Amino acid sequence: MMCLKRFIFFREMHTEILKIILPVQEFNTEADIRMFQAGLELGLKRYFKGNPGHIRVLSYREFNQQTDKFDRFLLLYDTIPGGTGYLKQLFAHEEFSLLLRESYEAIRDCACQLDGHDGCYKCIYSYGNQYNRADLSRRKAEEWFERIYRNSEQWIKNDHGLGSLTNSGGKLKNRNWKNGL
Ligand SMILES: [Zn+2]
Repeated sequence: MMCLKRFIFFREMHTEILKIILPVQEFNTEADIRMFQAGLELGLKRYFKGNPGHIRVLSYREFNQQTDKFDRFLLLYDTIPGGTGYLKQLFAHEEFSLLLRESYEAIRDCACQLDGHDGCYKCIYSYGNQYNRADLSRRKAEEWFERIYRNSEQWIKNDHGLGSLTNSGGKLKNRNWKNGL
């Protein structure tokens, strides 16, 4: 019997911080998270048509008292004080969906597969993940991004606040998105 795994994709918006909660069932290892991060950075470069050097991606974890487990997430933040509006733009559903599509297509089309490689510095490798290269796979990343991107219409607007991040910059806007499949 085929069983569709539950896939949750969750975003929350601070003034200029975009928080993406990763589905822990899918992203089990540090290598997985680093790979997702590399794919997202790749998408950002394409989306902003160049390297938005002031937009950084951080991997983070936070204890969730309701589930008694750690939520893993990526934090997109703007290093320019007060922000530039870039992340605000990405909070719009269709824009974020576009960013994921850029990530997906860049990974899908990377030429390394033509040379028999399953990943390279142009797609999923980064200096941040150079030590767990053996666990990285372009094919796997392509599947993830395709699934997330194709199910973007299932994101649900969610108005719950959040905890410890509120002191890390900006005022909480109480806006976020959730994707359940
Ligand atoms: Zn590649």
